[in-house]
Amino acid sequence: MMDETWRAVLADVAARAAAYRNGAGERPHRPLHTYAEARAAFNAPTPERGGDGAEIIAELAALAEPGLANIIGPRFFGWVMGQSHPTGVAADWLVSAWGQNVGNAHATPSASACEEVVARWLLDLLDLPRESSVGFVSGATMANFTCLAAARGEVLRRAGWDVEADGLIGAPPVHVVLGEEAHSTIFSGLRYLGLGAKRIISVAVDEQGRMRPDAFARAIAPLDGPIIAIAQAGHINSGAFDPFAEIAEAAHAKGAWLHVDGAFGLWARACQDRAHLGRGLELCDSWGTDGHKWLQTPYDSAYAIVRDADAHRRAMGISASYLPEGAERHPADYTPELSRRARGFATWATIKALGREGVDALVSLDCALARRMAERLGAAADVEVLNDVVLNQVAVRLGSDLDGDVSDALTARTIARIQRDGVCFVGGAQWRGRQIIRISVCGMNTTEADADASAEAILAAWRAERHANS
Ligand SMILES: *Cc1c(COP(=O)(O)O)cnc(C)c1O
Repeated sequence: MMDETWRAVLADVAARAAAYRNGAGERPHRPLHTYAEARAAFNAPTPERGGDGAEIIAELAALAEPGLANIIGPRFFGWVMGQSHPTGVAADWLVSAWGQNVGNAHATPSASACEEVVARWLLDLLDLPRESSVGFVSGATMANFTCLAAARGEVLRRAGWDVEADGLIGAPPVHVVLGEEAHSTIFSGLRYLGLGAKRIISVAVDEQGRMRPDAFARAIAPLDGPIIAIAQAGHINSGAFDPFAEIAEAAHAKGAWLHVDGAFGLWARACQDRAHLGRGLELCDSWGTDGHKWLQTPYDSAYAIVRDADAHRRAMGISASYLPEGAERHPADYTPELSRRARGFATWATIKALGREGVDALVSLDCALARRMAERLGAAADVEVLNDVVLNQVAVRLGSDLDGDVSDALTARTIARIQRDGVCFVGGAQWRGRQIIRISVCGMNTTEADADASAEAILAAWRAERHANS
């Protein structure tokens, strides 16, 4: 593209982006297009000839926008998703424009140095051991994977086996101990690592989904050899935290590596009135957490944090003769990828935009809004909040006076109705054998009025559905 054309395209994109974001509060909190409609919109033969930038961008917006989810909307409570801070988004645009590939420090001094400094900020905000290393990865799935790769290497090294050199074939068996309600992506990580999604020792949990320390101690006691234990900060349905101090003591007594999936929950440590939930987290060996959930960075942002930086580098380091050696921190030594976008810049800008105080206030506010919604919903006689709302997650069961299967079916129908109405967006899940509505307050744009309007919309949909089926 020629300079002036390109400038016009970027200005047009900026205008579109601002309009899109400014409209988020008024737009329905659901995609207008179904998947089939979105596919039909994009469906076209492979282009033979190149086209005009301005037209391509206009076409992309026209095709994509009807099928976008209003994730940045103030009443979006689906899964656990951040709303991407505008300053982080702006930084991310620059990253793309700069075209930096942050594989090694010599190629991109700024991008690499920025990651080193941001790593320190993250350890400070999360109050984790300052000697830890941090890899900037795409999401918590990869953060957990990266940490577990370091864990696998280190527990085998202690058993006299070099997995990085010799692989897993013939290695001493690695025991993996895991809470019964771990996030599904932990199993993906175990699969990628050759540890198997099913070859795990599952530990019973309590009614909030927390690992029971007595059950953990019993599970780990008879094990011999390399052990990896995996705990959780922030249960996906209840927001609950495992009892880290007790688990860490039992794990370390057996020489186990203790990893924590803290995709969103780890951020409780950055919040004065929630920090007590994460007591003992600093005793663990590695932590995976997302930027693109609670910190509100744009998507494609998470952190693999490993206390033993050597184990981290042994697992992930890429040494090739064409890569220069030196005292600099090479970003690729901490992530599974070599070539990748310079993720540190967006995290830098987001942390600058919020500050320590802003992160603290954001986590605190979202937790207060979750409690507020839980109180409103739970006040209805036939609605039950199944979890202690200690964090930002609310698990709601509708028709608590009804037979279980009837309640499940009506809850599922009510979720569909809420999504059709589009005032807010909530999703569902199966938990403790029941269909629930799962509400996750994880954004920076949600106000008390949004929480109240959403609770009302949920209750109205429930009444309509119950009435229609009675
Ligand atoms: C979201 C989440 C993950 C996966 O994170 P991604 O960023 O989607 O890869 C893992 N564990 C928990 C507890 C989560 O909430």
